[in-house]
Amino acid sequence: MTKPKDYRSDLTPVWCNGCGDYGVLKGITQALSDLDVAPERLAVISGIGCSSRLPGYTRSYAFNSIHGRALPIASGLKYARPDLTVLVVGGDGDGFSIGLGHIPHAVRRDVPIMYAVLDNGIYGLTKGQASPTSDPDFKRDRGLAGPDERPLNPVLLVLASGAGFVARTHAGNLPHLRTMFRAAIAYPGFAFVHVLAGCVTYQKPAYAEEIYQRCVMLPPDYDPSDFDRAMDAARGQRFALGVLYKRPPGERPVPMEPYEVTETSFPGE
Ligand code: SF4
Repeated sequence: MTKPKDYRSDLTPVWCNGCGDYGVLKGITQALSDLDVAPERLAVISGIGCSSRLPGYTRSYAFNSIHGRALPIASGLKYARPDLTVLVVGGDGDGFSIGLGHIPHAVRRDVPIMYAVLDNGIYGLTKGQASPTSDPDFKRDRGLAGPDERPLNPVLLVLASGAGFVARTHAGNLPHLRTMFRAAIAYPGFAFVHVLAGCVTYQKPAYAEEIYQRCVMLPPDYDPSDFDRAMDAARGQRFALGVLYKRPPGERPVPMEPYEVTETSFPGE
């Protein structure tokens, strides 16, 4: 049986002290250990950014690739080597700006990989520019362009694309990270995990506190097979944490159900 340390390389992370990425690295290695994934059967792929350094800190096949291109690279790898467990990690800028076009295609192909986005609402590596998930107040405070633009909602976007597994967690909650990653890695299709991860260097402490206060656990009676309920949870002002949606493998996505044309399809004709 493997241990979490079996998935760590000899490299010491260069993330800032207190960065949420540490928790994610720990949660992933714990989940891999729970599932007893052989390190020689593991590949971790990323794009560019602070969180995209994570593959270098794992003992696995690893590729810190090019900005926004982790998903097509990981998809090709998984198709060529279906025996590998393939994980993709990256930030909100990497995934939801330059890399956005790749997400619905990985989803519709249902590539059996886990994609974890470490969302800190900022470009950390390049010193604090606004990302697609930046809060409008953050941009207003710094005089950045587009303060009235609404932030993109990653969970809503991936759900609407038809993903079979969608979860959300917080980088400060280690047991929850471990549980979400374990469920996502074990899912036999495209699995998305939205991780609320703070940037202690370029975000104000009040931002991290506000994100934390907006988090709420899904209730015990929550049914993750209910797509409409998942969409409602994704639209909420609170950040619902847990497995928001899980579809039985092989079942068709709800938004792509066959549409039956009937005589009443066009009222008035
Ligand atoms: Fe983490 Fe921000 Fe430091 Fe990057 S700049 S390592 S995101 S705290």
